Amino acid sequence: MTFVRPGRILRLMPRPIRATISTTALAHNLAIARQHAGAAKIWAVVKANAYGHGLLRAAQALREADGFALLDFVDALRVRNAGIDKPILMLEGFFMPEDIALLSRYRLTPVIHNMAQIEMLEKTAIEGTLEVYLKINSGMNRLGFTVDNVRLASIALGANKGVGSVTLMTHFADADGAEGIQGQLQWFGVLTRSFEGPRSLANSAALLRFPEETRADWVRPGIMLYGCSPFTFKSAAEIGLRPAMTLSSEIIGVQHLEQGERVGYGLAYQAAQEMTIGVIACGYADGYPRHAPSGTPVLVAGQRTRTVGRVSMDMLCVDISDIEQAYVGTPATLWGEGLPCDEVAQAAGTVSYELLCALAPRVPVVEI
Ligand SMILES: *Cc1c(COP(=O)(O)O)cnc(C)c1O
Repeated sequence: MTFVRPGRILRLMPRPIRATISTTALAHNLAIARQHAGAAKIWAVVKANAYGHGLLRAAQALREADGFALLDFVDALRVRNAGIDKPILMLEGFFMPEDIALLSRYRLTPVIHNMAQIEMLEKTAIEGTLEVYLKINSGMNRLGFTVDNVRLASIALGANKGVGSVTLMTHFADADGAEGIQGQLQWFGVLTRSFEGPRSLANSAALLRFPEETRADWVRPGIMLYGCSPFTFKSAAEIGLRPAMTLSSEIIGVQHLEQGERVGYGLAYQAAQEMTIGVIACGYADGYPRHAPSGTPVLVAGQRTRTVGRVSMDMLCVDISDIEQAYVGTPATLWGEGLPCDEVAQAAGTVSYELLCALAPRVPVVEI
């Protein structure tokens, strides 16, 4: 006979903040990338925990991609261990000789961008052959070979029996800006004139703005898959993208201020007239940018308002004077559905990339 002792089931509820990740939005955005990519294959860029959306969740939602591009070996192994056998592009290649065994064992495609990597490859016995990307510095001056060493690098890879196919790659510095791609595209053409092999050039901005010139054989969209625009002159909605992450919370406190009263740390905001403010359970420890100034847009009960005062660790304040129904428990959207992350980022002097990537681990994620 068993005695079941009746116990009280304690259901611990998290505080109201959550990030809702839409897997259908991710799949939809990939389809938009596919429209622009034409016959080119797509590396879905899932670095930085898939721009904050969760690596495996995103890889699953983006399973129609032709491969996944990321940086960390730990992440590459997580993708493999989840049973995903699509190609994986290691955007920074590898870092030490011990990594090379992992490349073979897990069929990872490294980006080779410096001579030290080429030397490590030469000194290490490689199991089978590795497909590699050869990164050309066509003007961004971050990673890659340029006029003084690209020939040497190409010859060395060609002579290495452990190296199979070589794809030529470059990255644009200003595909979203005034410079565009022409200068880099031309220099890339000159630097790679005598080399055979497939090519991969385009990030989201290049793919959307210059698809004909840059799609080549493989494209590498990142930010657009998450429903944000790489441009300041064209919104995500205008491109047909849907926000994949919505950061939402609730009002947990209300204060009525008289004219001249001030709000928050540093007493940085002063009420110009009588006003009501709502305190939202979301702060910089959740990933909301602390440097977002007063006036940054927020939705409360679906209505647009603005932040007042400094963002603190766990809370921020908004003006709810004109939102009559707003009270404790009223929902608020910090970015996402109804309030583009790009707009919040712009108000905070940054880009949506940074906001998405900075989503803190303490924020509960709901997948829809
Ligand atoms: C991050 C990254 C991308 C994706 O860029 P988006 O602007 O997010 O589309 C593409 N290529 C390389 C080399 C990258 O590092």
